[in-house]
Formats: sequence, structure tokens, C-alpha cells
Amino acid sequence: MSEAVALSRIPLDDYTALLGPAEIEELRALAKPLRGRSIEMINSTAVGGGVAEILNRLVPLAEELELNIKWDVMSGGEDFFDVTKGFHNALHGAPYHTSAKDFEIFLAYNEHNRATLPLDAEFVVVHDPQPCALIDGRPPGANHWVWRCHIDLSHPNRAVWDFLEPFVSRYDGAMFSSPEFSRQLPIPQYLFYPAIDPLSEKNCELEPEFIAQVLARYRIDPQRAILTQISRFDRLKDPVGVIRAYRIVKRYFDCQLVLAGGSASDDPEGAIVLKEVLREAGHDPDIRAIELPAWAPLEVNALQRASTIVIQKSLREGFGLTVSEALWKKKPVVASAVGGIPIQIIHRHTGLLAHSVEGTAYQIRYLLSHPEIAAKLGEHGHQHVKENFLITQKLKRYLTLFLTVARKP
Ligand code: UDP
Repeated sequence: MSEAVALSRIPLDDYTALLGPAEIEELRALAKPLRGRSIEMINSTAVGGGVAEILNRLVPLAEELELNIKWDVMSGGEDFFDVTKGFHNALHGAPYHTSAKDFEIFLAYNEHNRATLPLDAEFVVVHDPQPCALIDGRPPGANHWVWRCHIDLSHPNRAVWDFLEPFVSRYDGAMFSSPEFSRQLPIPQYLFYPAIDPLSEKNCELEPEFIAQVLARYRIDPQRAILTQISRFDRLKDPVGVIRAYRIVKRYFDCQLVLAGGSASDDPEGAIVLKEVLREAGHDPDIRAIELPAWAPLEVNALQRASTIVIQKSLREGFGLTVSEALWKKKPVVASAVGGIPIQIIHRHTGLLAHSVEGTAYQIRYLLSHPEIAAKLGEHGHQHVKENFLITQKLKRYLTLFLTVARKP
């Protein structure tokens, strides 16, 4: 069944103390002409992954501004998510064996969802490839459909993109997380940075006692250096590469490695990748591969806050929200220069970039031996996120987009 996601309320005034009254006033002013007008967000999972993470906070915040917004999750069986995971990897450039059956499965689920989702809002925002063929169900009239692409489309597998492009081209606009992620399209394109919510359970301040409890629960020693990567167990996040980098670091520094991740309901590969990770970790008592529940924001927050260094060694990446989350917590971050990561990590200013297992290990060693530089990177990183990647800015961006597309005939 397709489902509407119910969310808890977020008082807008809570943000004033953190961000100042001007930011909130600007939001209210932009929202005023859109009050009561309907918006529908559609994606393919309610929990797990960056898109669900953002919608979980963006939607209630928009409700506070009196927008008539709803979030619907499309339904799909295992066969659909196997296909869309293949598409996802292929759009990131991985090899893909085109099969007519896959395209049929994709279309059949989109058709089914066209019949079950409301699709009746004035502004419909469809997230990512999974539901992008819903555009076939666009009702006639004064509605506006935009496609929000969270992945890097710069080098897609040709067959998959050729299949999806005719759908994408029928939207009124497409939003990408970086100028480099986009493609030549006959529709307007907009730059939309993803964002984190500083007041969510994932990012809010935590009591030291709670952090200590979480470390104790997972048998992590707070007295020794903690290297952490939080990510779904996905090959593109390269958890095995993280273990290899840790092993190099371990020759020089006493440290522990935490690999923590849950799975997303639209990602069927998680269990297999976790097995690969456990095999690589062997019997090393200082590696913790933690399988988190799909929704464990306080645990993620605590693990990030307890870390000495946060790693994000992705081979391909959309934006990489985990990086913003770590920077917000003033953590020194070592991350791969892929996808949206270099937008967040300005090398040697807000963190350190790396391009290989050896490079990742080198940068970690550098930070472990220069804690004062590590602290400075964390401070700069926090400021960079505050200026560019917070949810309030993201909401403003949406409001301006809606106002812009609504003006078009
Ligand atoms: N996340 C989580 N639990 C996990 C793994 C990831 O809550 O076990 C969150 C993570 O904190 C971040 C999001 O899921 O907010 C992942 O977004 P990102 O853009 O880093 O990667 P994606 O999973 O979308 O590829």
C-alpha cells in the first residue's frame, strides 16, 4: 500500500534562538502567498537514507508555515526495489545489463501507484528515479510538477538514462544537489542543496551521560580514539575500504573503528554488504560493525558526537548528508572527494578530502597527530553548515521555487 507519512509538530520559534529572528521572518514572508495551497511530496521510503531524513523535518516545518503539505510514500515490492537499486547504481555509472523485464516492472509499479496516490496537489515534488514515471498520471489543470534528483547524473548508464529521460523531460523543472550532477534537459534546472535540521534528534545537543550509555551499549571505549563511518551498508559507501584504511592507521595509533548503519526499505543489498563487512573485520576486537534499526537518530547522533574523526569514504555519493551532520557537530571529517562531498568539505578548511584507501588513512593519521588542526577544521565545518546547509534555507529554496513555477503559464 502507498502510505501517507504522519509526522510530529515542530514549533518554528524553536529555530529563532539558534538562527536569529531575521531568518524566521524571511521564511514567514515567503510562505505567506502560499498559505493553504497544496503541496505533495512523493518518494519511495519513509525511513532510511537522506531523502526520508530531509522530508521528516521539512514537511512538519512547512506545516508550521500553514502550507497544506503532505508526504506520500509510493509502494513497491521486492522486485521493484531490486530494479530501482540497479537503476540507482547504473545512474551512478555502474555496469547494468538492460532487461526489458526490469523496465516492465518499473512501469507496472509506477502505474499501480498512479492509481493509489492522490497526485492532486497544486505543487507535486517527485523525489528520485523510483516514482519519476508518475508524471504519466498528472491531472490536467493548473498544477506544477517538479522532479527532485538527489543523485549524481553526470555519468549515467546510457540505457537506464535513455529510459528515464522522457519521463523527466515532462516535468516543469528538475532540481539537482550540485551543478555537476545535472544533465542537458529541455526543462529548467534548479540547484538545491540538501540540508540538515539542527534541532532534530539526529543533530540536537545530547547529554554526556546519554552518549556514554550508547558507547557502553556497543562496547566502545571512550578513552581511546574512535573513527566512525555512519552509512547504510552499501558498496558505494565502501565500508570494506574504511576497514582497510583503519588497518593502516592502526599500525601507528591505538584506535577503534565504528561502522554503523541500518537499512532503508528501498535498499535490498544491505544484508549482503554487512556480511562482506563482517568477513573483512574478522576477529578484530576494535572494529564494531553495528546494525542499527532503520530509525535510530539519537544513537546516530551519539555515535557521531563521540567520534574523534568521522569518515565518509564513499565511492559515489549523492550529497552525503552524514558529512553535514558530522560537521555540524564540529567533528573533523575525512571524506572522499565524490558527489556533493567537496561542496561540504573544503579541503584543509572544513575537513580533509581523500581519493583512496591509502589517502584516507594518511589524512586520518595526520588529524590524530594534529588535534589542534582537527579542532579548527571542526569549527570551520560547523560554520559552513550553518551558512549553507540548514533546513530553514532549504525550505526557503522550496518556497521560492513554488512561487517561481506558479508564475509560469
Ligand atoms: N542514517 C541513519 N541511520 C543509518 C544510516 C544512515 O539514520 O543507519 C542517516 C544518516 O544519518 C543520514 C542519512 O541517513 O541522515 C543518509 O544520508 P546520506 O545523504 O549520507 O546517504 P544516502 O543514504 O542517502 O545515500
